[in-house]
Amino acid sequence: MQYRVDPKSGNRISALGLGCMRIPGFALGRPDARAAEAIVRAAVDRGINYLDTAYLYPGNEVVVGQTLEKLGLRDRVYIATKLPHASCKRSGDFDRFFDEQLRRLRTDHIDYYLMHNITSPAQWERVCELDIEDWIARQKAAGRIRQIGFSFHGSSVDFPVLLDAYDWDFCQIQYNYANEHYQAGTEGLLAAASRGMAVFVMEPLLGGRLADKLPDAAKRELSSAGDAHLTTPAAWGLSWVWNHPEVTMLLSGMTSPEQVAQNAEIAERALSSSMTAGQLATVARVVELFERANRIPCTGCSYCMPCPHGVNIPGCFAAYNASYAHSWFTGMQQYFTASAIRTGAPRLASNCVGCGACTRHCPQQIDIPARLADVRRRLQPGPVNLALKLLTRRS
Ligand code: SF4
Ligand code: SF4
Repeated sequence: MQYRVDPKSGNRISALGLGCMRIPGFALGRPDARAAEAIVRAAVDRGINYLDTAYLYPGNEVVVGQTLEKLGLRDRVYIATKLPHASCKRSGDFDRFFDEQLRRLRTDHIDYYLMHNITSPAQWERVCELDIEDWIARQKAAGRIRQIGFSFHGSSVDFPVLLDAYDWDFCQIQYNYANEHYQAGTEGLLAAASRGMAVFVMEPLLGGRLADKLPDAAKRELSSAGDAHLTTPAAWGLSWVWNHPEVTMLLSGMTSPEQVAQNAEIAERALSSSMTAGQLATVARVVELFERANRIPCTGCSYCMPCPHGVNIPGCFAAYNASYAHSWFTGMQQYFTASAIRTGAPRLASNCVGCGACTRHCPQQIDIPARLADVRRRLQPGPVNLALKLLTRRS
């Protein structure tokens, strides 16, 4: 495993971290304990020493805590988890959430503690009014929080303001070759690193959209490059992130021991500043093809779920993107599957009533009702609508 040094703490962190949110079962809010055990064991065996979870990932902290205790691995990994600051209405709430997190994770300290998805300076100012700075100082002095940071999905304008709003130890940003100029972007990465902070990267493959779900034309571009080591779209995507020396670690939401092994192998070779000019030019061509095909920037995180009207939001968006990335028929097939069309209670884009309950949860700031209307227009045109009505009437 390749290790990089956190400039603030001096910790040696594996370049590949385990994002625990996507442990199988996450979509139902019941992460599978056996799958978690297999994934965590494989990760630590491969030298991974950083595990990321959050209070808001249903059931996730509990399963991570149980797994580490059962396998006796707590002392071999850094645990990162996040405060649901938006739910903190008074200063006592910080202790309430934090104590629960320690219990769930079966530990007496958190190595890397984050404000979960601070997207604007106003959000940080609000918790400052509740004396969070004093609370952090007390937790650090007591050794209950080792490093403090924030995760970010806001705009490039707000990011440097937040960097300077507090003496952070680290930050966590969305970063990949398709998002160089989106959210924090490359400018934000450099700004954070120049302040001596560790920078952790999430969504290095955009929830698979830069891996298996990459548009066919982009996959062809990568395979025609004929690189002996970069043999998969995932290898290209991860290596591109690691190519940046400012990146301390990237998180991958690995869902099986096999995937852990594949990514760990890529991490061995993907050193910083190791990509050639030719490889970077290939990635630039892939970005053009990706942007042409991917219309909705949904990463499939499911933060917007469940929809009270039953719409499978990420499923609808994945199908819509597939209809451009691959073919209209592929998108339709995916749409039918994602909408559970044969169940008698289909979860179609047309079920959306525009209540807007989902939109504020979306880290990608997608106007969900408006984009579901696009899905409906493309994947439920008149004749398809008629066929759907007949199908649901029969089932
Ligand atoms: S806006 Fe539409 S998709 Fe979002 S919660 Fe309301 S009904 Fe569901
Ligand atoms: S619409 Fe937004 S919140 Fe919902 S799955 Fe996609 S990226 Fe996540």
